[in-house]
Amino acid sequence: MGLEAAAARVASAERIVVLTGAGISTDSGIPDFRGPKGVWTKNPEAEKAATIQHYLTDPEVRRRAWLGRLDTPVWTAEPNLGHECVATLERQGRLHALVTQNVDGLHQEAGNDPETVIEVHGTVRYSRCWGCGDRRPMRETLDRVRAGEADPPCLVCGGIVKSDTISFGQSLVPEVIDRAMQVSAECDLMLAIGSTLSVYPAANCVPIAKRSGAAVVIVNGQPTEMDHHADHLLIGQIADILPTLVGV
Ligand SMILES: [Zn+2]
Repeated sequence: MGLEAAAARVASAERIVVLTGAGISTDSGIPDFRGPKGVWTKNPEAEKAATIQHYLTDPEVRRRAWLGRLDTPVWTAEPNLGHECVATLERQGRLHALVTQNVDGLHQEAGNDPETVIEVHGTVRYSRCWGCGDRRPMRETLDRVRAGEADPPCLVCGGIVKSDTISFGQSLVPEVIDRAMQVSAECDLMLAIGSTLSVYPAANCVPIAKRSGAAVVIVNGQPTEMDHHADHLLIGQIADILPTLVGV
């Protein structure tokens, strides 16, 4: 019943903004970070490595981080049905923008235009120099690690290189956040998938869309912080709900 009504609402929408979180990628084998089986719950050292201060000041933290990047499941993960449903909305010409809290790049792998995807927490698929900002595909930098550089310096300025993600203690990129808020104010339907909507400022996309007159549809495995804004709240497995919701 609830799903049918939500599907009708999605079918009539013309400018959809999709907001995704870790829940859409768990079916692809990408673990989330703070859940019961999360990376940081099981390994507090990994969270320490994700803190920018530790990363910049401790070469050992960087060496461990590079080894971890070689091993991340992102390199073998494939987009799942959830990603494909979102890509379908873009093929239909109804996806205004895709705001994601994920850093795995799986939306682009599923066929979403990189120009449409707003990665508020960055991406592990690129490396970036902390000094000069030089950005290049992570695979190139990982080739240097495999060739023996335990902590590969920037090829341009010799500075410290990290993944192009937002670490703890690191500022978000204002232009990226501004764009996420702007598109949220412009949509006629906000579809939030697989996010607990508890991390700001990304979570603000939902009330901004609501205030601008958009319908709000939330799909998640458990309740979210923004359930009170939802016109349609769909709690359950993303892979069960999304194909019906978007009509694929
Ligand atoms: Zn540099």
